[in-house]
Amino acid sequence: MSEIICQGCGAAIQTTDSKQPGYAPESALEKEDIICKRCFRLKHYNEVQDVPYQDDDFLNMLNQISKSKGLIVQLVDIFDFNGSFIPGLKRLTGQNPVILVGNKMDVLPKSINHNKVKQWLRHAANDQGLKVEAIYLISAQKEQGIDELSKAIDKYRDHGDVYVVGTTNVGKSTFINALINRTSGVKDAITTSYFPGTTLGFIDIPLDEENSLFDTPGVIQRHQMAHYVSDQDLKVITPRKEVKPKVYQLNEQQTLYFGGLARLDFEAGERTSFICYLSNEIPIHRTKLEKADELYRNHVGELLTPPDLETMDQLPPLKGVTFKIKEPKTDIVFSGLGWVTVPEGNVVVTAYVPEGVKVSLRNSLI
Ligand code: GDP
Repeated sequence: MSEIICQGCGAAIQTTDSKQPGYAPESALEKEDIICKRCFRLKHYNEVQDVPYQDDDFLNMLNQISKSKGLIVQLVDIFDFNGSFIPGLKRLTGQNPVILVGNKMDVLPKSINHNKVKQWLRHAANDQGLKVEAIYLISAQKEQGIDELSKAIDKYRDHGDVYVVGTTNVGKSTFINALINRTSGVKDAITTSYFPGTTLGFIDIPLDEENSLFDTPGVIQRHQMAHYVSDQDLKVITPRKEVKPKVYQLNEQQTLYFGGLARLDFEAGERTSFICYLSNEIPIHRTKLEKADELYRNHVGELLTPPDLETMDQLPPLKGVTFKIKEPKTDIVFSGLGWVTVPEGNVVVTAYVPEGVKVSLRNSLI
């Protein structure tokens, strides 16, 4: 079969993977002007759907944007900063200003201090070598903070274009759709525009006569937990409601399992509490460290779930990293799952995640 190209975005049409660029159902192949599902949704429903970039396309995109003049709006998932921050963003920006947007604020406990989260985001971006003009916290899903952000975008873009960038799953489509929803009048004006050299169209939302807001396809971060679990499990581990912290008082030589996707061994230290911030639907099991391996061998996928059967087929084995935590108020971050706050210093823990997923420490967010 010769290659068929989507008339909307230029991606090669394929019928096998609905999450990849150019996907169209078999039935679409019988039509005359074939377009991919993403362009179909855009054309008929004004609805933006995310598709991931391949690495080459991503490099091309970096190149294109750093050569253009415009404001960059980078979205991160506030619940998974490590997994959702784009590592090469400094290169992407060139001289362009950046606004950092923390999305999914609705899942953080209400008691959280917004200024502290912003400060923390600024530090985290600085650590990655990225200087940002401003930081906004929003919930794209609940349409909170969108109007304020929209005003800031207008101010910082200074009559220029806007590029919205983010990794897959940060809520970029939800955000763009919310933005369009609240900015009446532009609904029919969304188009797909081509950047030469990339296979994918950027979605072009006109802001005025001369300038546009461009939605760029989602960048894949390989150490995101999302890439290792089934669609069903992804629904379970992604918090959809305000996260209710669960507190465990542990003695040394005790273990917590987060479903069967991660594990935390309290190796040494005085009795202390461990405050777990995860999706409310992930069951937590406490056991003795000496029994932990056996429990996993016998019960992963049943008592210790997720993973479900589909995830277990593809899940790499759990791998441990040992941390000697000196400072009080430290978070152990399980990328894509959540984090555990340890209020006291001087403890030794080993944190297990599927090989390839990231686990790290930070100063406590809450
Ligand atoms: P994209 O891949 O970046 O385009 O992400 P989507 O817009 O498809 O969103 C990914 C997932 O995050 C979906 O399950 C959304 O429902 C969810 N989501 C997006 N925005 C929010 C938000 O503000 N709060 C919460 N709780 N979930 C969100």
